[in-house]
Amino acid sequence: MDLTPSPEAYAVLDQVRQLFEQDILPRNREMIRSAKQDGELDPPFLDELRAKAKSLNLWNMAHTDLTERQAGLSMSNLDYSIVAELLGRVFWSSKVFNCQWPDVPNMVALQRYATEEKKEKWLKPLLDGDCQSAFAMTEPGAASSDAKNIAATITPDGDNYIVDGQKWYITGGGHERCRFYLFLGLSNPDAAQNRRHSVILVPRETTGVTVGGANAFFGYSEPNGPASEIKFDQVRVPKENLLGGLGVRLQNRLTLRWSVVLPIHPPPEQPATKGTQPVKHVIHVSEIHEFNEISVKIFHEKESMTSRRTFGLTNTLDSLSH
Ligand SMILES: Cc1cc2nc3c(=O)[nH]c(=O)nc-3n(C[C@H](O)[C@H](O)[C@H](O)COP(=O)(O)OP(=O)(O)OC[C@H]3O[C@@H](n4cnc5c(N)ncnc54)[C@H](O)[C@@H]3O)c2cc1C
Repeated sequence: MDLTPSPEAYAVLDQVRQLFEQDILPRNREMIRSAKQDGELDPPFLDELRAKAKSLNLWNMAHTDLTERQAGLSMSNLDYSIVAELLGRVFWSSKVFNCQWPDVPNMVALQRYATEEKKEKWLKPLLDGDCQSAFAMTEPGAASSDAKNIAATITPDGDNYIVDGQKWYITGGGHERCRFYLFLGLSNPDAAQNRRHSVILVPRETTGVTVGGANAFFGYSEPNGPASEIKFDQVRVPKENLLGGLGVRLQNRLTLRWSVVLPIHPPPEQPATKGTQPVKHVIHVSEIHEFNEISVKIFHEKESMTSRRTFGLTNTLDSLSH
């Protein structure tokens, strides 16, 4: 398998690098000061930079499926990976290009599962950079690395669903520009384990939604988009806000098409022993079956062979990086 990005991707990277070096790097201290001292998460210069990136069509590059009518430049995940590598150097830089988590996966989810009317109302402003969104899955009372444990509920009630539960660590959930949440909840408790949950769009300005304080991790709160606690208390949402139907394998389909290339030492089936050289492997995620399970192809550098294995996602990334 050829994992070389295209020549076009390198041309885009050159343009992004120019903006990165001229306009982003020199403002990094200013951004940190603005966020930490003044509590200003979107200083005026950020909007200026976003306008510049948009005018150069360096916009929405992480979205793989843009249509002709949508603003921006679609890139494949492979091509975008070299841009992401550069942007990863400065925590707020992907925002300049409208390529920030969690808006990108939320855009893809809406693109695939929202009605045309909902796309106009919720997706278009995200693509245009006029608002932000958040993904509300993790809960204080559930081991949320396995989405099957999520206990917050989505219950039918006439033409609506009642959404109820406590979420935390919701990136950007308390940001003043955040207009809606994609809420993951238990909708079909009696179904098979991997078909019990659904995702529904909850507008922030709905009765029963309360945004709490910021959640720190390792004593640190990301200044540009703190993760927040959010209480959903008997929130009433129209049925058409459900994305992709009830209890379908949304976890699988809502995941961005993505691939991870991960060199590992040693290979999982060959623990390193003293005196042996670890064999370099490259892991390419080829298929996502469920939220928590993926197929990977393993390319063995020395043995020039490939094999295919299926792992639990959390365990895979943990064990492979050891
Ligand atoms: C900066 C930041 C931003 C975040 N942003 C978001 C967001 O936008 N939206 C959102 O929904 N969530 C968000 N999260 C939460 C994140 O998705 C969860 O922290 C993550 O999924 C792990 O879930 P948990 O914290 O409940 O840990 P747990 O699931 O309790 O896991 C804790 C540890 O136990 C291990 N473990 C769990 N179950 C098992 C098992 N059965 N067997 C063996 N080991 C196990 C895990 O591997 C892990 O090491 C964010 C977190 C951080 C730190």
